[in-house]
Amino acid sequence: MRYYSTNNQSLRVSLKDAVTLGLAPDRGLFLPEHIPTLPQSFFDKIDQLSFLEVAYEVAAALIGEDIPARDLKKLVNKAFPFDAPVFEVESDVYALELFHGPTLAFKDFGARFMSQLLGYFNKASAQTITVLVATSGDTGGAVAHGFLGVPNTRVVVLYPSGMVSDIQERQFTTLGKNVQAAEVKGTFDDCQRLVKEAFADEQLRERHMLTSANSINVARLLPQSFYYFFAYAQLKKHNRPIIFSVPSGNLGNLTAGLLARRMGLPASHFVAATNSNDVFPEYLQTLRYRPRPSVPTISNAMDVGDPSNFVRILDLYQGNTEALLSDLSGYAFNDKETKTAMRRVFVKHNYIMDPHGAIGYLGLKKAMAKRKGQLGVFLETAHPGKFRPVVEDALKDGIELPSKLLQLLEKEKKVVQIDNRLDQLRELLLN
Ligand SMILES: *Cc1c(COP(=O)(O)O)cnc(C)c1O
Repeated sequence: MRYYSTNNQSLRVSLKDAVTLGLAPDRGLFLPEHIPTLPQSFFDKIDQLSFLEVAYEVAAALIGEDIPARDLKKLVNKAFPFDAPVFEVESDVYALELFHGPTLAFKDFGARFMSQLLGYFNKASAQTITVLVATSGDTGGAVAHGFLGVPNTRVVVLYPSGMVSDIQERQFTTLGKNVQAAEVKGTFDDCQRLVKEAFADEQLRERHMLTSANSINVARLLPQSFYYFFAYAQLKKHNRPIIFSVPSGNLGNLTAGLLARRMGLPASHFVAATNSNDVFPEYLQTLRYRPRPSVPTISNAMDVGDPSNFVRILDLYQGNTEALLSDLSGYAFNDKETKTAMRRVFVKHNYIMDPHGAIGYLGLKKAMAKRKGQLGVFLETAHPGKFRPVVEDALKDGIELPSKLLQLLEKEKKVVQIDNRLDQLRELLLN
């Protein structure tokens, strides 16, 4: 299967090139030239499959032409040594828990699949590939862990100073080895811009094989479709329409859900739920896209003012806004609403949501109020322990940290600081 650029339908490359390039040479984003539909036989037996089996079947439909079955199976098994369970939080409302991976956020799915895929394609090459990644919080840790110790790779994580939680920061600043962290004086949008500028820089391109591990990379996008199918597998027995609500920032997770739907996932509706950075819900209301600087919130991994996957969603719908609006609703919630929801669900149902999942929950409740009799799934994108101060403040109660996080608190951070200018990033990369 080949991948085209959203800027130019006739620019087509192989999966290997799409994964290695990250961004298309014309700065468009790659999408598969044709979206396969999964056969009815898959859906007939889906409720008897494990997560790994579901992931393999979906992966094979998407990239089975590019990687032989045995290798692909191995790759899938290595990428996902963890589960994606749904948990009934209250009647008809389910959390799809995507935080059971090594860095306790859903980004482990994309980052680990990508590192496996890149390792697979880069096996025979002696050249080191530099993976450049901007993070608003969770991507950095997931990518760093995904690539840690992978031969011939170097990871450089850019993150906005003071805007990621202490634990998030520790997940990519304490690893050492082939992982470097750069604290950028600026916002997440600055970090994303620096990554784009680095790609456009001749001097850097000559000296380095650069790739991006942000959600613009198709290798991150594709595996995020797997768990939507697995959520369906677990809920199929209820035989009811299912709404998916996705706490959204760069819209990668949502795009993967829409892709899953094109592949045949029986989902009745999708919700794009955001914090006060409401560019996308506003677009769905007005059909005007007004990117703007992001504002800081307690759900910091979604503080995005110009979501990179917006163009992919437009492309999937080819200008058919009627279809887009019927498939998708958008809702935004502020920090106060987020905290109130976290406390209410904790008190009433004894379930602890992280601030991102809480926004998904709020969006889901709005959509369910309009669609009676349907089941709802919100994606719980991170473990609440990753945001302990915020969560404890919202719950007015203490929470326990899982051991994976406790160990981090004892490790030393190693960081270099740079301004939000390309020349400083260039220097870091060239040294
Ligand atoms: C990255 C992230 C999001 C937003 O996902 P997008 O694919 O960028 O929309 C939501 N929640 C958490 C915890 C995240 O880390």
